[in-house]
Amino acid sequence: MVDDSTALPPPPIEDRFTHIHVDLNSFFASVEQQLHEEYRNKPLAVVPTFADTTCAIAASYEAKYLGIKTGTRVAEMKKICPDIILVEGDHAVYSKYSERISEAVHDVCPVAHNPSIDEMVCQLIGREQEPPRARQIALAIKQAIKDRVGATLRCSIGMGPNRYLAKIASDMQKPDGLIGLLPSQLPRAIAHLELRDLPGVGARTEQMLHRKGITTMSQLLELDLKGMHGLWNSVWGDRIYHWLRGYVTGDDGAPVPQDMQKSLGHSHVLAPEHRSTEGAWSVAHKLLHKAAMRLRMEKMCTGALALTVRYSLTREQAAMLPKTKKHTSGITHTGWGMEARFPTCQDTLSLLEALQQLWKQAPKGALYQKPFFVGVTLNRLIYESEQQPTLFADADRRSELSSTMDKLNLKYGHSTLHFAGMLPARDTAPTRIAFTQIPVLYGVDWM
Ligand SMILES: [Mg+2]
Repeated sequence: MVDDSTALPPPPIEDRFTHIHVDLNSFFASVEQQLHEEYRNKPLAVVPTFADTTCAIAASYEAKYLGIKTGTRVAEMKKICPDIILVEGDHAVYSKYSERISEAVHDVCPVAHNPSIDEMVCQLIGREQEPPRARQIALAIKQAIKDRVGATLRCSIGMGPNRYLAKIASDMQKPDGLIGLLPSQLPRAIAHLELRDLPGVGARTEQMLHRKGITTMSQLLELDLKGMHGLWNSVWGDRIYHWLRGYVTGDDGAPVPQDMQKSLGHSHVLAPEHRSTEGAWSVAHKLLHKAAMRLRMEKMCTGALALTVRYSLTREQAAMLPKTKKHTSGITHTGWGMEARFPTCQDTLSLLEALQQLWKQAPKGALYQKPFFVGVTLNRLIYESEQQPTLFADADRRSELSSTMDKLNLKYGHSTLHFAGMLPARDTAPTRIAFTQIPVLYGVDWM
């Protein structure tokens, strides 16, 4: 039989985990149980105010066993469990705990994203992706949270060959779960889930799927690529098709060849005082510095750098744009991103040069004045050992400078050393001079 399909077969995928998704269980309620020993092992609900008409914004596991969950009204809760402990929520306290947990996780494996107050995503690279090692990292993360923050703070961890599957896996076992989804087990390992268990499938999308005759996950998984594209009538169908099978996709929804998939990056929601162009630049600068240091620690080189910036919008501004999004923090925003490609390198100075070029392309104007989120990702990673020798000598001794900085940073703590030269200054200085500046000593890490 002749295969008349013109599409290339998707690249083979190895059984590896690229992402770890950490989801705290009953986060707000667990923090309250950590702070108040007398609340432990008891049904408890966190409420915004003490009134019979409000509902729970979080419930402890003991309350969940009784059928009380987020959204259950206070009057209803009292009916189910007359002695339920009600606690007024304190967002500032939960934010502090979230930060402490992030730090504990970060010490085991760098946190690449904080999608919400109770979630952290780590990106695995190199040999960390081997399933036994990934599992060790996941267990070490659980232990670090218990030891450094508190024993009541349990989490469910998902491991997957892409970020989407890692998030799905983190939801599959609660509390204190640890689930890995490997490409060779897909898609059958997720066939028993509900459509609503898929990230991005909310009530509206579910209705749309129902209208089109898809009511179960197995029906969705039986569709071919064309069917999935038709269902969403967009590239989202292609993406979800591939993600559910363990692939990583590009913007067009098609799988990215595996040798180009490797990436590592960091993103950060800016503190209110840094929500300006200058603040966002210094955060981008710092994220790049961290990513470059990790790249060298893993003995890798990169051939592409991607920058993402999200800008918060006022209600009037949002009304002017055809398409806006809502961040998990509730901020309405518009975003921008761009990737630069270059010969593979691993030194911070070459990468800063690329970041600076990208930064100049960022949109300007009234809608782009309030950046609140910055992400920096190094793509097209290869191992040092695979790198072609460069034709030109390392004239600026960039690699040597980078490795000296790494040593000092490791010895004296993160971000002890930083390159001087913010964008305006560097623009006016000849490149060579800017790049041979002496690193400047900063004080405490402010991020
Ligand atoms: Mg959670």
